[in-house]
Amino acid sequence: MWTIASDIDGTLTGDRESLDQLTRRIHQLRSTGQAYLIFSTGRRLDQVLAGVAKEGLPEPDAVLCQVGTEVYLPPLTEHSKPLEAWRSHLLQTYSREEAESFLSGIDGLEMQPDEFNTELKTSCYLDRCPDPDSAALEVRRRVELHADRYQVIWSSGRDLDILPAAAGKGKAIRFLVRLMNLDAQRVVVAGDTGNDATMFEEFRCGVVVANARSELVELARSLGEDGVYLAQRPHAGGVEEGLKHLGVFDGDVT
Ligand SMILES: [Mg+2]
Repeated sequence: MWTIASDIDGTLTGDRESLDQLTRRIHQLRSTGQAYLIFSTGRRLDQVLAGVAKEGLPEPDAVLCQVGTEVYLPPLTEHSKPLEAWRSHLLQTYSREEAESFLSGIDGLEMQPDEFNTELKTSCYLDRCPDPDSAALEVRRRVELHADRYQVIWSSGRDLDILPAAAGKGKAIRFLVRLMNLDAQRVVVAGDTGNDATMFEEFRCGVVVANARSELVELARSLGEDGVYLAQRPHAGGVEEGLKHLGVFDGDVT
């Protein structure tokens, strides 16, 4: 059985027709016990469920929200609570107050709305800073001294998150793989921006869609592994192309 761990926005969404086709293929695999689907996203759980209901996303087996700081297992409803074991593990080393202190005095920085700021994720926008990349570098420099407890995720030239060092998409998937006793050798990931980077670093097997940000393309190239596939096609079409290339899908059945 394959574990498919995919980002949602920009990776699966963006081309409804291709997504419908990919959803059919994933559904086939899941219904015959050949795939376990994890969404790994910056979205909240209710936004993920709305995506399944209205945007054509396939039904997942597990959902990692808020950039790998929250883990949700079925039954998935908008009232589901994140898995306590992961939450308490991360809370041991994370202080929201301290995380916020790394952001003080950065010119042009704006905090993200409350819904994207949680007890385990401190998030801001840097796109109004005079030089967003240097601002991100400055936050990185401040956090570096506390790298045993915090990490910085810089994505899309806009979003900066300060997460627990033990969190992030890649580590959350690893946690789930152990928890659910999944085959760690058969995990494929898919993404399009910098906040997906940790998935590729952790598993070194996956698909970077053609519309990906250069930050992720560069990382994929630097990994230089056979397992990281740069798709020719954007969005869900690229994911399908990559899953075919990596042997998750075979044949032309759609
Ligand atoms: Mg994305």
